[in-house]
Amino acid sequence: MQTPNHASTPPIRIVATRRRRRTVSARLRSGVLEVLVPSWMSSAERERWAHEMQHRLQRKIARSRPSDERLAGRAQALNVKHFGGRLSWRSVRFAEMSNRWASCTFTTGDIRIANRAATLPDWVLDYLLVHELAHLEHSAHDRLFHELEERYPLTERARGYLMALDHQHAELMG
Ligand SMILES: [Zn+2]
Repeated sequence: MQTPNHASTPPIRIVATRRRRRTVSARLRSGVLEVLVPSWMSSAERERWAHEMQHRLQRKIARSRPSDERLAGRAQALNVKHFGGRLSWRSVRFAEMSNRWASCTFTTGDIRIANRAATLPDWVLDYLLVHELAHLEHSAHDRLFHELEERYPLTERARGYLMALDHQHAELMG
């Protein structure tokens, strides 16, 4: 659990609009969180929504920040679920990697996930982890490796997702 960092909370502007009938929405505009509320809404309700939207934004920011604890927890859960808990590694951490999504040093058991992968959906991040975890047993992309990797049921979908983000992904995966 991370303590909310109030210093990083953007200022809020409440914008009342006649065009919006029932729904409240929010957007970040030049570093200001604009909360769009229907003009009929009471000021107490507007305040309540402003806080709610701020809270949601903070959660989103916290979630997309590279967290090694989150990575370690997910790797261990995937190890248990898809590898019978038999894998062991020395480290699994986020790192600055501009030209690949992830890497695994087979000889030392060090797994690195690119910082930019922190903003991927959980199920895609899990695929990156499964791919690198499978490398702990098979360094090459051979048949046995792919059999291990495909124990993760969303492997194909995740590959497609990454491919859409980055056509080079096949070459970028370590
Ligand atoms: Zn690989």
